[in-house]
Order: sequence, then C-alpha cells, then structure tokens
Amino acid sequence: MIIVLRPKTREEDKNRIIDKIHSLGLKTMISQGVERTIIGVIGEEDIMRVQPMEAFPGVEKVIPVLAPYKLVSREFKPEDSVIKVKGVDIGAKRVVVMAGPCAIENLETLRDIATAVRKSGALILRGGAFKPRTSPYSFQGLGLEGLKIMKEVADELGLLSVTEVIDPRDVELVVKYADIMQIGARNMQNFNLLKEAGKSKKPVLLKRGMMSTIKEFLMSAEYILSEGNFNVILCERGIRTFETYTRNTLDINAVPAIKMLSHLPIIVDPSHATGKWGLVCAVSRAAIAAGADGLIVEVHTHPEQAASDGEQSLNAENFDKMVKELTAIARAVGREI
Ligand code: PEP
Ligand code: MN
Repeated sequence: MIIVLRPKTREEDKNRIIDKIHSLGLKTMISQGVERTIIGVIGEEDIMRVQPMEAFPGVEKVIPVLAPYKLVSREFKPEDSVIKVKGVDIGAKRVVVMAGPCAIENLETLRDIATAVRKSGALILRGGAFKPRTSPYSFQGLGLEGLKIMKEVADELGLLSVTEVIDPRDVELVVKYADIMQIGARNMQNFNLLKEAGKSKKPVLLKRGMMSTIKEFLMSAEYILSEGNFNVILCERGIRTFETYTRNTLDINAVPAIKMLSHLPIIVDPSHATGKWGLVCAVSRAAIAAGADGLIVEVHTHPEQAASDGEQSLNAENFDKMVKELTAIARAVGREI
C-alpha cells in the first residue's frame, strides 16, 4: 500500500501517519518527490486495509499496490530514479557505457583495455575478480588481487568501476574497492546476498537471472530496496529460451516493460545476451532504441587470449566503432552518450 500525501502536508501530520503505521508493526519508506511525498507501507499489509488512513489530515489518497513489489514500483515513485555514482548519473539523459573484460587477468592487460574503452567513451570499467563459473575447473578470478588491480587502474584513468560479488561475506570487501557491486544472473535469487547488498548504501547492479521472470527480477530488487538501499540499477542480460544458436535471448521487451513497472534504471548486457561478439553491436543499437539507460559490454584488447568469454568480447577497434554508431541512435531517441 502507498499513501500519497497532499502537496505541502505539514511535518507533524506526516509524522502522525508514520507513527500510526509503525504502531501496527509495519515499516515505512518515504519517497520524496518534487511535488508530493509518498509513504510506502512495508510488511504484511492486511491489517492496513481496515485502517481509515484517508481520515488522517494530509492524506490525498491511499493506493493498494497489487504488484508484489512495492518500493521498486512506479506507483511508489512516479519519477525515474537517477543513480548517482561519483558524478556519473545512471538513469538520466546520458546513456552510460560500462565496458571491460569479463575477468580481471593482470594489471597490464586491464590497463590496456581500460585505456581503450575510456578513449571510446566508456565511463565505467567492468571486470570480474570473483567469477561465478559454470565449471569448477574454469578460471575463478583473481579475488582480492583482482579488486586491487581494478581500483588501481580505475583511479589512474579516472574511471568508475563495477565488479561482481558472489558471497555475502565479501560485500564489505568489494565495496571498499569498487564503485558499483554487481550481483550476477546466477545469484539474482541469493536472498542473503541481496539483503547484505541492501544493508550497504553502495550502488548495486542487479542482473536478471537467466530463468527469471520480470516479476521475479523486480522482487529481487525489492529485497535490496527493502533493506534501505535504493541505489539499484537493473540489467537485462538475456534469458534462456529454446534457441541455442545464441548463448541467451535478449528479452528486449523487458526494457520498456521495466520502465513502465519501475522507476529504477535498466541497462542491457549485449555480450552475455548473445554470446557472440558479431551480434553485440546490433543488439546494443536495439537496446538503446528501446530505452535502455546504459550498456555493460565485454571488451578485450586480445579477445582470442581472454581468460573468459573471449568469443563474446569486442576488440578495442570494434568497440570504438560501436560507440560511434550508438551516438546516432541515442540522439534519435532523445538521449546522448
Ligand atoms: C558477468 O557480467 O561477468 C557475468 C558473469 O554475467 P551474468 O551474471 O549476467 O552471467
Ligand atoms: Mn563474462
């Protein structure tokens, strides 16, 4: 349930409503819009249905939120959320490009890749230090050493960084080194990890599980918001379908659907969505045309030598070409890169 207050509601009237909700054993989350304040009621709300909340001074309307996700819903926050990460706004006019290797391999290679993607217009460096690999025999990432390399390169080049956290016990460590923590497709329903990420105030890039519905995806985001962290960026990265030619199938529908259902920004990962570098550019064009707020792209200076996902990584030249092409698409839909 959300309670919409009238413009210019007095602080004491607002507090009286909040106190009433708390006295029923429920939590509140406040969405402070330009015009209006909205109070989100968190918890089992059945008890609220019999409360005459409209009778409280300051209440304009009470809206039962039928969707199971509340805080991520457009009803709760009608305006788009803009996630601010050290001067970079995600969810604003500018389409934000995140790029880098699948895995951090060593300092020199990451520096080369980062230098290239920065030159082409990427603002955020991606790279995994903890890799959730399908096979236990595949490269698992450099761990803490990888985080240190990432921070060194990002600081040196003035880039922000995003890296995956796969264990709730590592959240603190990852946020110490990276600007955005990524929760990957395989962990989208790792609820302890989501809760831990929610307790931190650091931005979270939440990727859609490969077998998750849009509703389940938004419920996972709800876990993070319900712990008090509203800095969530969603990422559509393809889902598993009967098609096997591509690694996954990009659910392009998810971009406008999520824009409709939620205020959170949504970006697209064309690399994992396709699994083939030759498809990345076309799919990225589609993502921006559909309204994506950004892209996260795998790029490697020598894809044939990459420790993981080389087959879906763009080389520096193709990445540069792609960003130039995307500039025109962005402009056509009223955005910029
Ligand atoms: C990644 O971004 O490196 C990754 C493993 O992606 P996903 O979780 O979407 O498979
Ligand atoms: Mn990868």
